[in-house]
Amino acid sequence: MAFSVTTPIYYVNSDPHLGHAYTTVAGDVLARHHRRLGEDVFFLTGTDEHGGNVARAAEQAGVTPKQFVDQVADRFRRMTTALESTHDYFIRTTDPEHERRVQDFVQRLFDEGHLYEGTYAGYYCSSCEVFYAEGDLVQPGNLCPIHNRPTEWVEEKNWFFPLSKWAPKLLDLYDRHPDFVRPQARYNEARSMIASGLEDVSFTRASVNWGVPVPWEPIKTIYVWVDALLIYRTAQEYGLGTDVTATFWPT
Ligand SMILES: [Zn+2]
Repeated sequence: MAFSVTTPIYYVNSDPHLGHAYTTVAGDVLARHHRRLGEDVFFLTGTDEHGGNVARAAEQAGVTPKQFVDQVADRFRRMTTALESTHDYFIRTTDPEHERRVQDFVQRLFDEGHLYEGTYAGYYCSSCEVFYAEGDLVQPGNLCPIHNRPTEWVEEKNWFFPLSKWAPKLLDLYDRHPDFVRPQARYNEARSMIASGLEDVSFTRASVNWGVPVPWEPIKTIYVWVDALLIYRTAQEYGLGTDVTATFWPT
């Protein structure tokens, strides 16, 4: 049996706190448990290091983004050591091996015609690095529902992934695999979200410099959420020095 588990990768715009320690311990307990059952385990943790938030935090600290993420990632690494975490790999999204694979992935989508150019206009929360629909904002004042702070109206030319057109395929997947998401309540929540209609998502950022460059238009960067999501795959491809996806993918 093969078992793979990952903590969230920790966003390095500020220092580790109890919440990070908690999810590291939770992941470690699962990893140790499955190893004791005699299973082959891949336990991943690490840091999510790109995006406008990190660039701003670096600027405030008076250092370059790279210097900043090196410092903070080291603090996260020391936290995992202090907790005696048994992770198999500590990924950093600034690992060149990761960045190259993120570029390859997005280039492949582009080459196969899955991305289109469009203008994104919406209410943007710079702390979430997320665009919100007007209906999701807290009124009055168009406030971010997470941070309760004002969002800004942003317009950018970006490359979009047509998520909306994949909804029927996703629904089919969910219907054929009722245990695809667990527990059941989350399965229902995700399925009904897809059924209610998906919006296309921006895969690039025109106004954020601290990120993985878009291969065919390097003045733009790949959206930090896309970059970060791919760790589940990329870490298995290079983390152990040998590609272990045959054993652990899908995760
Ligand atoms: Zn926010």
